[in-house]
Amino acid sequence: MTRHFYKALFCTLLGLAAVADSVGAQTPEFRGQWQQGGTIFGKVPAGHGVRVDGRQVKTTPNGDFVFGLGPDAAKEVKVEVVAPDGTTAVFARPVVQREYKVQRVNGVEEKHVTPPAELTERIQREAELVNAARRRVDERADFLQDFIWPVTGPITGVYGSRRVYNGTPRSPHYGLDIAAPTGTKVVAPAAGIVTLAEGDLFYSGGTLIVDHGYGLSSTFIHLHKILVKVGERVEQGQAIAEVGATGRVTGPHLDWRMNWFDVRLDPALVMADKPMPKGTQD
Ligand SMILES: [Zn+2]
Repeated sequence: MTRHFYKALFCTLLGLAAVADSVGAQTPEFRGQWQQGGTIFGKVPAGHGVRVDGRQVKTTPNGDFVFGLGPDAAKEVKVEVVAPDGTTAVFARPVVQREYKVQRVNGVEEKHVTPPAELTERIQREAELVNAARRRVDERADFLQDFIWPVTGPITGVYGSRRVYNGTPRSPHYGLDIAAPTGTKVVAPAAGIVTLAEGDLFYSGGTLIVDHGYGLSSTFIHLHKILVKVGERVEQGQAIAEVGATGRVTGPHLDWRMNWFDVRLDPALVMADKPMPKGTQD
């Protein structure tokens, strides 16, 4: 056991941040926003392992990795880096806690607010389809691409907002809504493999999932049309769907969701340093 190990362990117990800074070669490079909903990209020397709050994070052969901070992530996250000889260094990082707003949405069809009992089975089945697509483990490093906007337009809904539909509180909204006319082309924000393409799910309408590898996926919902098939590889910038107003909506928009496996992420944070180009919406 090295001194560093004990130092890291001791400081972890005390809950101090950035304790293993002197480990040198093992210090991961991080990119991303340390806040709830953030996607963190990192790099460690090849052959090192990574765990985040005890959860295994697969690394590419080059040592690249990605993980997500959920909407309710705790105030601090611990990233453990395990060297090939088993030496472990712990890096604690503070996580900015967000306050989510309440968004009232009126004029939604009542069946989408309080679905009749006979739809329960369908709704559960569809949720399971989506969850299964997001759980896939595919070791492609498409997630390393610099993400681009799938469509551009006014942001009309944000991640984490507590939604009240026709006056009835429902589960929070974990997507980024971008208003655009029906038929507007949606392009792949990064390359990937299509893992789900369903024309008519109850809540989400036309639904498409693109897996960017190592658990990072994009989900696009309320689509008018899907232009790709399950199993197909798509390249960054390729037209994959058309904006629509299907499912629980009041008007046409793209709802873009991102996941790291089951962890829901905020696409706006991934795009934080890429302001939406003006006047490109046509
Ligand atoms: Zn939405």
